[in-house]
Amino acid sequence: MTQALDLSRSASLADVDLAELATVSAELERKPASAAVRWAWTRFGTRIVLASSFQDSVLLDIALKAAPDIEVVFLDTQYHFGETLEYVESLKQRYDINLTIMQPLVEPDELWRVDQNECCTLRKVEPLARALDGKQAWMTGLRRTEAATRAKAPIVGLDVGRGVVKVNPIAPWTDDDVAAYVQDHALAVHPLRHQGYQSIGCWPCTQPVGEGEDARAGRWAGTGKVECGLHGWPEPRERHVDVDRADDHSGDSR
Ligand code: SF4
Repeated sequence: MTQALDLSRSASLADVDLAELATVSAELERKPASAAVRWAWTRFGTRIVLASSFQDSVLLDIALKAAPDIEVVFLDTQYHFGETLEYVESLKQRYDINLTIMQPLVEPDELWRVDQNECCTLRKVEPLARALDGKQAWMTGLRRTEAATRAKAPIVGLDVGRGVVKVNPIAPWTDDDVAAYVQDHALAVHPLRHQGYQSIGCWPCTQPVGEGEDARAGRWAGTGKVECGLHGWPEPRERHVDVDRADDHSGDSR
């Protein structure tokens, strides 16, 4: 089924000075991930959301320590593994999460069998657009080493397609950095990690990967598809618009 989608509702909200973003991003490269969260929370306050896929809880742990009130968005595609939903519930027990669960506007169907791009649009891209309605920025756990398509992701940049700022506090982190943080902070691990799943999305489109395989090789395996449409870094255009400062929204001084 194809339907007209309005993916541009947030497009007018985040006109920003690209030079400012580049400067901030470069400075944050030399600081811990929590500094990026604090900057984002100070800059945008309640006008930023953290989008979590709940594959792990590294960014969640960092973010909720630095900005406890930040809104966390989970895109419930209706095709998550039961283990993922259980993991979300377990993290709700551990953390006081300001959690928003976004549902697609469509019922469960078989579209993923015939048109995965359209399925991702309906179940991920469109719900995210609604979650970003009225927001000026979003935060993700995207990392450069996850895929070639993510290799140039800045810590702070402009999400040109959505017209909002995108903050990736752990963009420079390696797999070893993630593993070390999980161990040092005794974080709960997604149960499917123990079964060879290194990147975890919807069950119809996710497989475990073998030793030495790329972590995302199990996503849409054999189809050539590598991204769901949430992430992408087109060359930025020169633009400058007005984003109100949100210094008064800072909820964390640590
Ligand atoms: S990952 Fe698969 S099931 Fe999930 S939204 Fe995309 S195509 Fe649909």
